[in-house]
Amino acid sequence: MTTYIAAYDTEAESCLDGVRRIVEVHEKHEMPATFFIVARLLDEQAGEYRALLADNPLFEIACHTYTHMLVRDHHLCGPAGPADQYPRELLESKKRIEDVFGRAVTGFRTPCGFPDGLKGAPRILELLQQGGYSYSSSLAWGPWWTLPALILESFRYEEQGYPDIWEIPPCGWMENVLKGHNPKEAWPLQLFPHPFPEAMRAAPVQTVAEEVELNRLFIDKACRMGVGHVSLIWHPWSLHRFDPDTSMLDRTFAYVHELGLKTRTFEQHCEVLTSHGCTTTTGESCHSERSEESEAVRKDGDPSASS
Ligand SMILES: [Zn+2]
Repeated sequence: MTTYIAAYDTEAESCLDGVRRIVEVHEKHEMPATFFIVARLLDEQAGEYRALLADNPLFEIACHTYTHMLVRDHHLCGPAGPADQYPRELLESKKRIEDVFGRAVTGFRTPCGFPDGLKGAPRILELLQQGGYSYSSSLAWGPWWTLPALILESFRYEEQGYPDIWEIPPCGWMENVLKGHNPKEAWPLQLFPHPFPEAMRAAPVQTVAEEVELNRLFIDKACRMGVGHVSLIWHPWSLHRFDPDTSMLDRTFAYVHELGLKTRTFEQHCEVLTSHGCTTTTGESCHSERSEESEAVRKDGDPSASS
């Protein structure tokens, strides 16, 4: 059975208003979430974020670097920042977030994401291991820097020499790009022919209904494929600008519950992957988890077990 994971790249001062509303919707739906936070935001907003997120067991706090500096060259977002800053971006940031929230951080997401995750970034993987991270969620583009990102299984960075670090990729459009909120970027390239043509778009979305429909397409497709998880790429500042009532989240979470999907944070999902001893390295299916989970569900008589 596919697990749904809600997550937010929390990267700018203007995210705070969005996060206030996001927290309300998550509490209403009892929906877990992972907040990938840029540590620098805590210089000014630590009290607000602690009050919103620290004591709620629904929420995981993960790391989105210290300053949102790029840690690899990015085809669209620009060149990587200086390598001597990487320890600050990956290690000091983690420590800072842990100090503010009083709990361990186990996950990391790079700014902007990459089509191969961190496969070509040995120094970043080395720092993740050094920092005691368990997972990255940084494979956020389709092949050849296209969008939307494809629906992929989790994998370990085993071939790169880091078998204890998982990549748990998000999928779909970056919703800020989908809404034309990043004006410096041209409309992104899309694969052609596309393996998922229904998800292609000729122009930014204009309405919440269009966005909800796209979300449903990705969730439905992930369930049909039988992948272990599905997680879309969201940014509080951009969500709030487009949809201040946060009705997109409300409708998307209602749909997730209607389908009867499991819901987890990235950290919880990583713990399940690890405990099932999956050894896939290249994005193949995590068979042991899927078969054991669907077996358990069948015993419970859940009709969605066959979806
Ligand atoms: Zn970001």
